Amino acid sequence: MSLAQGRQYLAIPGPSVVPDRVLQAMHRAAPNIYGGPLHDLTYSLIPDLKKIARTEANLAFYIGNGHAAWEAALANVLSRGDKVLVLATGLFGLGWAEVARGLRAEVEVIDYGVQSDVSADRLDAALRADAEGRIKAVMVCHVDTSAGVRNDIAAIRRTMDEAGHGALLMVDCIASLACDVYEMDGWGADVTVAASQKGLMTPPGLGFVWFNDKAAKVHETADCSTGYWNWTPRAKPEGYWQLFGGTAPTHHLYGLRAAVDMILEEGIEHVWTRHDKLARALWAAIDAWSQSGPMTFNIKDPARRARAVSAFGIGAGNGDKLRAWCEEKAGLTLGIGLGREPSDAFFRVGHMGHVNAQMMLAAIATIDAGLKAAGIPHGAGAVEAATALIAREA
Ligand SMILES: *Cc1c(COP(=O)(O)O)cnc(C)c1O
Repeated sequence: MSLAQGRQYLAIPGPSVVPDRVLQAMHRAAPNIYGGPLHDLTYSLIPDLKKIARTEANLAFYIGNGHAAWEAALANVLSRGDKVLVLATGLFGLGWAEVARGLRAEVEVIDYGVQSDVSADRLDAALRADAEGRIKAVMVCHVDTSAGVRNDIAAIRRTMDEAGHGALLMVDCIASLACDVYEMDGWGADVTVAASQKGLMTPPGLGFVWFNDKAAKVHETADCSTGYWNWTPRAKPEGYWQLFGGTAPTHHLYGLRAAVDMILEEGIEHVWTRHDKLARALWAAIDAWSQSGPMTFNIKDPARRARAVSAFGIGAGNGDKLRAWCEEKAGLTLGIGLGREPSDAFFRVGHMGHVNAQMMLAAIATIDAGLKAAGIPHGAGAVEAATALIAREA
């Protein structure tokens, strides 16, 4: 027996749910890439994506996933032998550090573990220890998707300024853009990296790097930069083809245009608020479930949790059991435990992008049923707690 037939909810932290409007925009004959509507549409995305990242910085497109955008951003500012400082709060920070190592950078990692955000003291000490100013960039994930943690980017900037250190602040917003509040210029990030398949609700395949004039200046002497990844012709193209270093990602651009329209029609502040309320509905349910039994928040302090993805402990074996039941019996796909051992003792819920209250409430009720069906002990009243929050705050 299964009750999974019907529309599925892919509640993993990327790729996220793709709206019908985005799918329909992509369903078309191949367009002319040498001129006409595709060019207008692409150029129209540039100011709008700057609005979403809250910046007047330059924007470079890449055909690639988040890993490609990670490497693109680094290659544009690093020179051989440069040092970078990575503030790791989970698997993705460590992954970006690996990319820097691949470019032969000297990589210093401050590892905050998988249940904490960045704290100022260790960062301050590392910056002050670098009297020669060898650290070219401080790299951090705004949201680390494996831990469900959100870092305070403005506070990191303040710590850098107070230490009088001139490194670039490079921020991975792949999971957080158009989900959690992000102010690239207001918070003083020099480089922001994102991808299409999370808050931007478009299939994987587009990467974005926003870079300000300070980063552009560093780029001028960066000898890791290669012709293909070079962000300058992508941000200031003399010809359309330079935007993507070759053929444009035609259908992705139509999809992205529709997704960006949806975000701007709703209003980016409203998008942030919606994510906040839906995340807190889930957290209210987890609060109730964790009153008894093995369920725990990975990030205890709500002020440090991401609004795009949440991570939970649930006891060895139970994560996989719960996920299997929800997917096979009810059509809800939850995220795997990532960066934790044993991974089947954890699960994550992606609540990024095209998600509304009825989807979140259905996911919560489905998890509640899954806990019962899988015989995983849990506190009562989770659905009630979530519906009460939505009733109060919608
Ligand atoms: C998803 C994600 C990535 C990796 O993106 P890919 O498109 O899978 O390469 C990197 N960083 C964060 C924070 C992410 O959430």
